[in-house]
Amino acid sequence: MINLTTLHGDLEKHRHLKSWIPELTKHIEVGLCPKRYGDLAQWQATLDKLPTVEIATTNFRSHNIELNAAANLSERDRGHLEELLRELHPWRKGPFNFFGIHIDTEWRSDWKWERILPHLSSLQGRTILDVGCGNGYHGWRMIGEGARLVLGIDPNPLFLAQFNAVKKYTPASPFHLLPMKAEQLPRNLNAFDTVFSMGVLYHRRSPFDHLM
Ligand code: SAH
Repeated sequence: MINLTTLHGDLEKHRHLKSWIPELTKHIEVGLCPKRYGDLAQWQATLDKLPTVEIATTNFRSHNIELNAAANLSERDRGHLEELLRELHPWRKGPFNFFGIHIDTEWRSDWKWERILPHLSSLQGRTILDVGCGNGYHGWRMIGEGARLVLGIDPNPLFLAQFNAVKKYTPASPFHLLPMKAEQLPRNLNAFDTVFSMGVLYHRRSPFDHLM
């Protein structure tokens, strides 16, 4: 579920992230253990079936994370894509729009982003970590604000599958989602200009350790 070549390529450009690669690769292996997550093969099969679509534009700056095709999808392709996206439900965070297919998610993550954005310094050119990033909705918005690199971590591989559905159509975007927990981050990575962790603190048994 992770293209290690692209991931390593982006991390190698960064002095502090480069040295993390060997340890990180082990975490990814554990985080995607098929014995632990029995649905992984099914999600991968769904991702493998996603149709190839020529992308005209992406828009990560409005409420929908939006992928636009160069030409309208046929009714048949559209129906097929919608069915596949449904196989990755529940879509908790969003909304997303795949070539006119609107994913009306459980949460309006755009509302949270609109409230936070005015209080942030510019994200232009920043290297960002998003701890507990869900399916990556906010990470796409960070890319939309000009981030140089976004790493999102979240232990739930369904969210990685949903992220991959978007990433398939924008593979060169410098955004990677890693299936791991906050506790697995090295203590002194010193790699990020900005760290987000939204909606996670109150899930943690020890909120202070999470903050540290
Ligand atoms: N940040 C997103 C998602 C919040 S939901 C938003 O604001 O919308 C909380 C997320 O934290 C879930 O996706 C869950 O899988 C993740 N999570 C739970 N325990 C975690 C941990 N120990 N480390 C990192 N993420 C964790």
